[in-house]
Amino acid sequence: MTQYDVVIAGAGQNGLSTACYLAKAGLKVCVLEGRDILGGGVVSFKDELGVTHDGAATVHTLVQVNPMIANDELGLISKYGLNYAYPEASTTDIFVEKDLAITLYFDIDRCCAEIAEKLGEDEAAAYREFSDFCQAVGPMLTLGMFAPPVDAAAMASALAGFGEIGQRLLRYLGMSSYEVVSELFRTDELREVTTRFVSESMISPFDPATGANFIACMYLMHAPSKFRMPHCVGGSQKFIDAMAAMIKDNGGEIRTNAKIAKVKVEDGKCTAFVLENGEEITAKKFVSTLHIKQLFGSNGMVDPAIMGEEFTAKVDALRPSYYVGFLQNITLKEAPRYKALGDKPTEGLITEQSHGHEHYKRVFDELKAGNPSPYDSSATCNATLVDPSRGGEQGLHTLYLYNYEPYALYGDPANWEKYAQEIADKNFEAWCELTTNITPADALTRTIKSPLDYERWNDSWLCGDFCHISQEFDQGSSNRPFPGMTRFVTPIEDLYLGGASAWPGPTVSGGGRAVAQVIFEDMDIDFDAVING
Ligand SMILES: Cc1cc2nc3c(=O)[nH]c(=O)nc-3n(C[C@H](O)[C@H](O)[C@H](O)COP(=O)(O)OP(=O)(O)OC[C@H]3O[C@@H](n4cnc5c(N)ncnc54)[C@H](O)[C@@H]3O)c2cc1C
Repeated sequence: MTQYDVVIAGAGQNGLSTACYLAKAGLKVCVLEGRDILGGGVVSFKDELGVTHDGAATVHTLVQVNPMIANDELGLISKYGLNYAYPEASTTDIFVEKDLAITLYFDIDRCCAEIAEKLGEDEAAAYREFSDFCQAVGPMLTLGMFAPPVDAAAMASALAGFGEIGQRLLRYLGMSSYEVVSELFRTDELREVTTRFVSESMISPFDPATGANFIACMYLMHAPSKFRMPHCVGGSQKFIDAMAAMIKDNGGEIRTNAKIAKVKVEDGKCTAFVLENGEEITAKKFVSTLHIKQLFGSNGMVDPAIMGEEFTAKVDALRPSYYVGFLQNITLKEAPRYKALGDKPTEGLITEQSHGHEHYKRVFDELKAGNPSPYDSSATCNATLVDPSRGGEQGLHTLYLYNYEPYALYGDPANWEKYAQEIADKNFEAWCELTTNITPADALTRTIKSPLDYERWNDSWLCGDFCHISQEFDQGSSNRPFPGMTRFVTPIEDLYLGGASAWPGPTVSGGGRAVAQVIFEDMDIDFDAVING
């Protein structure tokens, strides 16, 4: 039997990035994946016309800031063929009733010129002032995400000592994103365009303490060019392929169809991951990137009797996000052109539709009530505009049509069986209305994934939630999953919790770098020596 140093549960981007760093240190690692393919939420597929679509995550923003990619610490770019395509602008928001489109360009001067033209010089000046502030504080908020978390109280006291800028940040951190922009900007349009990024984390910009997330997003908007919202050339899956190749090159193993059913604990120590077929995989240390409830909930893989009633109840009480993703992957013959852009394609990577302030606010109230989202939460990406290789031999175009929807539709997730097609059609038709050249009949291929489909697709996405648990303040950032269980350490010796349930939460972040650092500390391995070795 192979004796591994570390065994990792889940071959998503978190599990694989953890394995990459451990393997680079010369540790013998094994990654166990329950499905027959790697990648979890970072997967691509080819449709019958040979067009490549992303089945979930498509924009790899956060990982660009991670030294893993920013400094190519693992050679994924220089040795393993990873390549990113960068757009000119992040988003174009179409205000339907006003026939107005606002594009947020990455170049700050161009962005301010657009805001001045569409909303006035004063709004452009306010935007520039806020952007300068975000550039000053952004690195503090983002760079720390790729190392073990700092305690929230320690961070607050450090910021307070940072003078005016630290105090301004500290104040914003406690506010809702919308409160922040209401202080800064005069127009509802600029308030909406800027805060929509926050909702990508499945929290409403109207929720308290969403300011940190907002400022990090605004920092990334105008940060150095290599951080700018790229698509992976050839499909999201190429990121996974590069990590898998690196792990294997460094002596690691990755097993598919290896679903973990139980975690064996003896005398308070983790001693094996037990597969569905009864096979026991042993190691010195274990990392789970699965949902915390899969592990420690009352039906979890660790015997709840070992964890005790109080701990188990605390895990069971963790809340999922109140809305989740609903995706349509569509192949089109030509790229969409928009009425509000004078019959031109969008320059923004993401195109969103808006119907004014009252409607914007209502979206989140409707979702909270379990109702389908009004159309304006839909966002689209056309990856083929920056990466034509995805369009196949016929040079076709991809449409990634993404909506926020509640998991418990009308109070019951089973309702997705009944309404998924109807809601998908409604969303697609509403989006077609924005264009000059696309009708629903122009969909050459189309696949639909509802929240219920996502729950069935990935065992870790309970309630269809790729965040695992919502990112509201008490469960978010350095409080994740809850105070007292941060830094990836669990009550079980030698069992670490990474993945979306832990710091820094979901998204394509290469979060395993920070998990590996904690394991290195525990094994007396010098992280810098590994990186520079
Ligand atoms: C529609 C949609 C759009 C998204 N868009 C974006 C985007 O554009 N940008 C972005 O940054 N993020 C996006 N995300 C979020 C992103 O996909 C996730 O945050 C990310 O994939 C999480 O990676 P992970 O490694 O933590 O977990 P996962 O990707 O969930 O990986 C966990 C793995 O564990 C496996 N597993 C589960 N149970 C077991 C078991 N018992 N035994 C063994 N293996 C098991 C699963 O099969 C899976 O492969 C999107 C998500 C969705 C659903």
